[in-house]
Amino acid sequence: MAGVGQAMHRLMAELYPICRSITGDGNRQTLDILRRFIPLEIHEVPTGTQVFDWTVPREWNIRDAYVKNAKGERVIDFNASNLHVVSYSVPVQRRMRLQELRKHLFSLPDRPDWIPYRTSYYNESWGFCVSHRQLEALADEEYEVCIDSSLTEGHLTYGEYMLSGQTADEILISCHICHPSLCNDNLAGIALAVHLAMLIAQWPERRYSYRFLFIPGTIGSITWLARNEAHVQRIKHGLVVTCVGDGGRFTYKKSRRSNAEIDRVAQHVLKQSGHPYVTEEFFPYGYDERQYCSPGFNLPVGCLMRSPHGSFPEYHTSADNLDFVRPDDITASLDAYRQVIEVLEGNGSYLNLNPKCEPQLGRRGLYNAVGADSHQKLDQMALLWVLNLSDGAHSLLDISEAANQPFHEIKHAADALERCGLLRKCAPGSPAPTG
Ligand SMILES: [Zn+2]
Repeated sequence: MAGVGQAMHRLMAELYPICRSITGDGNRQTLDILRRFIPLEIHEVPTGTQVFDWTVPREWNIRDAYVKNAKGERVIDFNASNLHVVSYSVPVQRRMRLQELRKHLFSLPDRPDWIPYRTSYYNESWGFCVSHRQLEALADEEYEVCIDSSLTEGHLTYGEYMLSGQTADEILISCHICHPSLCNDNLAGIALAVHLAMLIAQWPERRYSYRFLFIPGTIGSITWLARNEAHVQRIKHGLVVTCVGDGGRFTYKKSRRSNAEIDRVAQHVLKQSGHPYVTEEFFPYGYDERQYCSPGFNLPVGCLMRSPHGSFPEYHTSADNLDFVRPDDITASLDAYRQVIEVLEGNGSYLNLNPKCEPQLGRRGLYNAVGADSHQKLDQMALLWVLNLSDGAHSLLDISEAANQPFHEIKHAADALERCGLLRKCAPGSPAPTG
């Protein structure tokens, strides 16, 4: 994993200046950059397409925006930060007094140096976001207000990357790409998803197929689900990637099912990691898990993050910048995702072929001599737990939980027992043997 945190941070820095929204060229530019790392397929869905109860909106693009004072100076300048313009602002070219302009200005009085992030996707309006100090410095005079934007028939753009495995069963990794210069929410999520995809692509074999989605929030997942409804049941496990770059404790938000395998695996990995973490029950707010877990789909999709949205003051402000996300923190997040996926890949049930009393481990070289290399050493308790609970009805995850041991130790023991003929893997989904 050495260097990967720096690489993810560099990718975030490259994506940071781009003005993204739920549609527009900023999203295309973003996906083009990601294509240098993974061969994303880019989808363009036309404005007006009906997607369940929603309609793909007009495409928004912006070239420039500013407010000039009486001297002609730009006192608010889109070029200084793309957060200055309310996303989806309609075009404006007018002169107005401060009193009228004020109705279109948004600031954070409690955080006078930060610029808030605001959107107006589904009702036509315009506005500027400014630091409170900037707002207070505006004199009572006439201003020239310009938003050089366009809202036209166009497309909603998203990226998709499929990695095929031995089975058509899929693991879904979904992240949103609709935020402009904001890092934890969600450039960190984009960078993590890209690097996770690169990592998994290198594995010599994969039991699952993997689907990575880079979509605008809400309307993107609704659009994807509407276009892929026929084969959505292939998704056996999924995670929504967001807020993975801050230094806060881990948070796992469960799927609506609450006890899906992904829910158990994520909690197991966090518990064994030693990192502080909390788990949350599903609630119908947050990110795209809201759509994946809507009752008509009820997919086993959770959300693995650090500090949840809204729980850190920098959230949706200019302070969620490149300093707020640290390479070490996002690396720890990537590592947690990798481990979750390794558990999903390795989980399964086995049958003890010598179930009457314990087999003699020493005779098979499974009992460690004192002083054996601790790296190679098989954990004796792991061997005994696997032998005892491998009745076809318990998965390796069940055994890890019963033994309170990391999954990889249990898997390591199962592999060794299988090699010496004491254990046989049950076919996935096979009924538990009886008697
Ligand atoms: Zn957000």
